[in-house]
Amino acid sequence: MRGYVREVDEYLEHGEGFAGPEPKRRIRNLLDVSGVLAQLTPIAPRSATVEEVRRVHSDEYIEKIRRHSTTGGGLAGPGTVIGQGSYEIALLSAGGVIAAVDAVLDDEVDNAYALVRPPGHHATAEEGNGLCLFANMAIAIQHLRRVRGIDRVAVVDWDAHHGNGTQEIFYDDPDVLTISIHQANVQVGRSLGSLEERGSGEATGCNINIPLPPGSGRDAYMTAMDRVILPSLRRFGPSFLLVGCGLDAGAYDPTGRMMLWPDGFRALTEALAKVCEGHLVAVHEGGYSEFLAPFCGLAVISTLRGIRSEAEAVFETFPRSETDQHLQPHQRAAVDAAQRCHLGVQACEHFGEHLKQSISVPLGERQRGADLQRSAR
Ligand SMILES: [Zn+2]
Repeated sequence: MRGYVREVDEYLEHGEGFAGPEPKRRIRNLLDVSGVLAQLTPIAPRSATVEEVRRVHSDEYIEKIRRHSTTGGGLAGPGTVIGQGSYEIALLSAGGVIAAVDAVLDDEVDNAYALVRPPGHHATAEEGNGLCLFANMAIAIQHLRRVRGIDRVAVVDWDAHHGNGTQEIFYDDPDVLTISIHQANVQVGRSLGSLEERGSGEATGCNINIPLPPGSGRDAYMTAMDRVILPSLRRFGPSFLLVGCGLDAGAYDPTGRMMLWPDGFRALTEALAKVCEGHLVAVHEGGYSEFLAPFCGLAVISTLRGIRSEAEAVFETFPRSETDQHLQPHQRAAVDAAQRCHLGVQACEHFGEHLKQSISVPLGERQRGADLQRSAR
């Protein structure tokens, strides 16, 4: 059984524009009409307690959100509005992720997708940012460690925007590996998500940024997955994996300039589904294309469920030139730089066959192999 933190009406209230509920509502509706929803186990969310939120955020910041939420609104940080009732929905968003990780650990489900709102990966301990109020994933990670006894947790954040909040919260913590793959040179918060931001003290090497050039598609992401993300996860050995599942690296997203399509999200999900023996919760972050984000969400959730929805076939009618982007030289250079920075050139020798193959097979051959696999489906 695969879990899904079911939407509640509160997640779909409040806010308009990029912060609005429509893409999330459409993901839910597409899950429904495609028949996938009926194959999922619903997980009822709950509100996080103040004690749980306090494991990440300061008392002053929590009180600021509560106060503005009850007195007509205000700002949590740059461009991040607190509206009437935002405090309660932010608690419910954080608690939804906690409910998801608990459901996985209690064997109620094998893995889960938390379709929560507002997002969390840009929020730091002291400041909201990029539409995020409370750091949902970070709060769930502290729950995993302090309440559930999980010692090592990893995050892979593939939202188009750098996961600056998660990075900052765990920057000096050697027991949390934070990996962010994102569009290069887009600043949210204090950090740019550059290669050099690698963690501090004992945690040096436990923060991994993989900035990719705008326009990167499936090949660039999967090359980074093979050469940097999976080897880093193997080296770290987490007991639980959270995926910061932004869908704004999808083509057509109004806030990102990347080129992923649903099959790219499927490939990324397949690669991570085997890590931690499936102890995985994907947590919804950004994703603002009302057209494409629902299909990308469907691809992720179907893959976690181990099925392929017929609704995904709609993209087979698209021109291959649009949806199949081969690895470009400047993208390969970006992945090479990340591999050198985070793993060292010589480290590549020590990892598994999958990695060696991705390095040794000429890229043209690799692409043809991928084409053959696709045509055989
Ligand atoms: Zn984003």
